[in-house]
Amino acid sequence: MNKVYFVGAGPGDPELLTIKGRRLIDNAKMVIYAGSLVNPILLDGIKARVIDSSGLTLDQIVDFMVEGIRHGDVVRLHTGDPAFYSAIFEQIKRLKALDIDYEVVAGVSSLGASAAAVCAELTVPGISQTVIITRMEGRTPVPSEESIRGLAAHGASMAIFLSIGMIETLRDELLHSYALDTPIIVVEKASWLDERIIKGTLSDIVDKVNEAGIKKTAMVLVGRVLGANDKDAQPSKLYDKDFKHGYRS
Ligand code: SAH
Repeated sequence: MNKVYFVGAGPGDPELLTIKGRRLIDNAKMVIYAGSLVNPILLDGIKARVIDSSGLTLDQIVDFMVEGIRHGDVVRLHTGDPAFYSAIFEQIKRLKALDIDYEVVAGVSSLGASAAAVCAELTVPGISQTVIITRMEGRTPVPSEESIRGLAAHGASMAIFLSIGMIETLRDELLHSYALDTPIIVVEKASWLDERIIKGTLSDIVDKVNEAGIKKTAMVLVGRVLGANDKDAQPSKLYDKDFKHGYRS
């Protein structure tokens, strides 16, 4: 029976796609991906019909899935790891109702790629053993008991998605509990060729981010653990050589 595979596409670097994800993409009859977010290099040379989901409604995406599985497996690519902010939940609900078989394949989250970019462990003994994964409220509401202000009270390491556009409010919320000199790191487009890393403290990060003009696709890492290591990774970007022309977009 053909299946819909929700596959984690990784953070950007095509080498950070799993081998299983690669195999599924290569064998799929249809690949549905979010055009602006997933690295299009992952789709070079594949035989599947490729559907760009940006601008499509949930209904339209599900219609494509229904059509696709008549011919073979369908891969639905989501950036990073589908466990975080991927909206697979609503798609799975539809597939269940339609009795369509599905599977989820983990990917490398931008959380891991961002920590790797600065060679950081987020759980250093004696400093913090907890990572809080969250976001600022945007169009998607966040339950009030999960406010950044409330979560910051734990003093744990934090990885904050989808919030760079609200960096000033985010800083103000964090300052309810963290000290002004708490390290904070913003990684824009982690693992892409044009990745940028901004390091600071809660006292200066807003100015630095504004100066750099970072407005989207960035991870915010906060916590005392980040002071434990000041080395940046020089990741081996093998794909530079393999794909001479770099990214297509
Ligand atoms: N499932 C994805 C997250 C999707 S939500 C994952 O596991 O990474 C989109 C948010 O993820 C962005 O707003 C940004 O906060 C973060 N993000 C995605 N790709 C990123 C990258 N390459 N570098 C830094 N942050 C990224």
